[in-house]
Amino acid sequence: MNPKFQAPRGTLDYTPPGSLALRRLQELAAEVFSRYGFLPLETPIFESTDLFTRSIGEETDIVSKEMYTFPDKKGRSLTLRPEGTASAVRAYLERGLEDTGFSRFWYFGPMFRYERPQAGRTRQFFQLGVEAFADAGPASDAEVIECFWRLCEALGLEGLQVKLNSVGCAACRGAYTAALKERLRGREGDVCEQCRTRLEKNPLRILDCKVAADQELYRDLPKLVDSLCEACAAHFAGVRGNLELLGVAYVLEPRLVRGLDYYTRTAFEITSGALGAQDAVGGGGRYDLLVEQFGGRPTPAVGFAAGVERLLMVAEKTAASLPAPYAGTAYIAALGERVGRRALELARDIRTEKLSCLLDLGPGGLGKKLKAASRLACGWALILGDAELDSGNIAVKDLASGEQKLVPLEGLVTYLKERRGHPCRTS
Ligand code: AMP
Repeated sequence: MNPKFQAPRGTLDYTPPGSLALRRLQELAAEVFSRYGFLPLETPIFESTDLFTRSIGEETDIVSKEMYTFPDKKGRSLTLRPEGTASAVRAYLERGLEDTGFSRFWYFGPMFRYERPQAGRTRQFFQLGVEAFADAGPASDAEVIECFWRLCEALGLEGLQVKLNSVGCAACRGAYTAALKERLRGREGDVCEQCRTRLEKNPLRILDCKVAADQELYRDLPKLVDSLCEACAAHFAGVRGNLELLGVAYVLEPRLVRGLDYYTRTAFEITSGALGAQDAVGGGGRYDLLVEQFGGRPTPAVGFAAGVERLLMVAEKTAASLPAPYAGTAYIAALGERVGRRALELARDIRTEKLSCLLDLGPGGLGKKLKAASRLACGWALILGDAELDSGNIAVKDLASGEQKLVPLEGLVTYLKERRGHPCRTS
């Protein structure tokens, strides 16, 4: 095969069964999020470029290198969203959600970043996440982290770690970055080029540098958590205490600053040992200034975003495998022209009872059709030929056990319903 077209570099296709795992993850996430009162929010996939440059930060990797930005036909600069929080804040303000009392939202959708593709890093990827507005207290940070953790638990993921830090507020961070600069004065020549720029424009971000020599140099730098102001320190202690109360284990990670500028106070990540270099499944934190920065009333907020592909990668490595896509589905093997109408009616009746079936009215004999049903790992094969039609009984084969029974056509749906979800139970 030499197909004429290929997907753009750094993009994925979700084909069965992976596409099913993606949908199941979305359903599971929606279910876990609803327990916390998060409601679905859908925002556009493109936004005006300013929205991202002003919130994420000009000096961040995302804004400086990774955005898919293009002019529309009227010359307006638009960008494919690289993350979900900026859009959520915009929608919160623009749609007057402040005044509705709805303050908790979740999203699940594609994000775009022009990065060098590698394992766990693509140019289009899915993120799921939550945003909780209007609650300044440390319980809300802990709830958001707990929610992320419970989702991982519900997925059966293992070997994960919650990493926690506080990046303080504008006041304590200012003092800290001044101290950082002071400590590194005269060493500017020893750090990587990017860190030289960071030292000038956004010193905190040097802590996130992945260059080994730089990391070595930064190892003994003072910790931001040791310079928190009283209010930020109290908040951080509150978050830690609440996580302990909720039974969510964490480790303190003094160098964790995250790749976006809008965070204040709490910053966290969940990482997995199963992922290699790109080990963050997701992360988030508090962004108490962003709503105001976007023109709203001062409104504290906290949220997280997780990479769906990474969640699925960890699930594949550590969780029990997903059931086959057609487990529990009945495969109607219709044999001969005469049975077509009855087979179609049967399919309707099965589906009316919220069971699923595949209808095979095509050419071919029983052997071929049973083979197709087995290949798809269906739960049942329903064999309907002239003899069955005349006798009023249909042959029902449990494809897991191989057992076959004759069931009256009239009672077939009830028979399947009673065994819903138990395709192996034939008694
Ligand atoms: P961020 O918005 O940068 O905090 O990213 C949150 C999560 O999204 C990360 O921990 C990853 O799981 C995921 N993620 C970010 N960038 C990519 C990418 N290029 N490809 C795949 N997943 C990504």
